Amino acid sequence: MTSPLLPTYARAELSFEKGEGPWLFGRDGERYLDFGAGIAVNALGHAHPRLVQALTEQAGKIWHTSNLYQIPEGERLANRLTENTFADVVFFTNSGAEANEAAIKMARKYHAAGGHPERFRVITFEGAFHGRTLATIAAGGQAKYLEGFGPKVEGFDQVPFDDLGALKAAIGPETAAIMIEPIQGEGGIRPVPNAFLRELRALCDQHDLLLIFDEIQTGVGRTGKLFAYEWTGVAPDIMAVAKGIGGGFPMGACLATAEAARGMTVGTHGTTFGGNPLAMAVGNAVLDVILEPGFLQRVEKVGLLLKQRLAELKDRHPAVIAEVRGQGLMMGLRTHVPNTDFIAAARAQKIILIGAGDNVTRLLPPLIVSDEDITEAFNRLDAACTAMEADLNGVAHRGAAE
Ligand SMILES: *Cc1c(COP(=O)(O)O)cnc(C)c1O
Repeated sequence: MTSPLLPTYARAELSFEKGEGPWLFGRDGERYLDFGAGIAVNALGHAHPRLVQALTEQAGKIWHTSNLYQIPEGERLANRLTENTFADVVFFTNSGAEANEAAIKMARKYHAAGGHPERFRVITFEGAFHGRTLATIAAGGQAKYLEGFGPKVEGFDQVPFDDLGALKAAIGPETAAIMIEPIQGEGGIRPVPNAFLRELRALCDQHDLLLIFDEIQTGVGRTGKLFAYEWTGVAPDIMAVAKGIGGGFPMGACLATAEAARGMTVGTHGTTFGGNPLAMAVGNAVLDVILEPGFLQRVEKVGLLLKQRLAELKDRHPAVIAEVRGQGLMMGLRTHVPNTDFIAAARAQKIILIGAGDNVTRLLPPLIVSDEDITEAFNRLDAACTAMEADLNGVAHRGAAE
């Protein structure tokens, strides 16, 4: 039977009927340890009681009113986000790409409002991923996402990763902003050195550029801080957030300082669904849990444990694993074998992982994982590596016999 779904995804032959914490229950009758969390989305795991309660309570009251009216739950969530970050203002969206679109528009409008509409260009970095809209594929700059979709949206200049010389050379009279993920996610869990981020901040201050952090994947506790920029010693002017902020309910946000947002006056931007009461109720519930005293420290601690266990895995299986990298519960394994094979071998051991660029496999468990879950993951990955080594040896023996 052919599916009427647009075939833009190569979907695995697997579907799930329910989830509980870090576990997924497949329609194949198997139980899977979910170290993908719906691509860093299910921050509190599956069916977290607080989120279920928040959503069902709100569903019985009001779903949607539009942004033509006050939405108190949204005011509350925006207040909590600004109290806990560098930001003064928040614009809610339905997705990450829309949060980045708001960020890009805001940066351009900032300069227009300051009398410099010619300053509209945004510098981005090789390996970046910022979404799949026309502007965000131009920002990401990846040929495979741009090809066949007409002229690339004007105004994005891409420079190599962690190359200060190239970055300085790219700044011109039309530059408006620099946009970067503090740790590249889709690009292969590539952390940007803190020193480089500090240089970006200094350059932005020097040239009146806005610094935009795309924390869609790194944010909302993923690295052990509420936002990854807190590790770096610098704050952005604008920040895009999504994925984990809704714990699985589709939502995003663009946060900014009042100064960076100075051009975004009545009528300049909008959204029908963004900030709707269902999303706001869930977003507040996610923050209730993540901002509980000790929660983020616990993420940091369990993240260190995961990193240790992955280093151990690499020592045990050097023919399979080449490198361990990442921070908190945003970890990557670069493998000698194709990452698609590694992910398939892991799935055969009933653990879900996610691919990324640079032949990396991402481990993005829900933030509520326990030490026992990490041990369970280690054992399953150890078995997956052993199975892969047996295959590699088999290939070597067959090769020798020929
Ligand atoms: C996932 C992601 C996006 C795109 O988010 P969508 O919700 O898919 O539009 C943008 N930037 C980063 C860093 C991401 O990880």
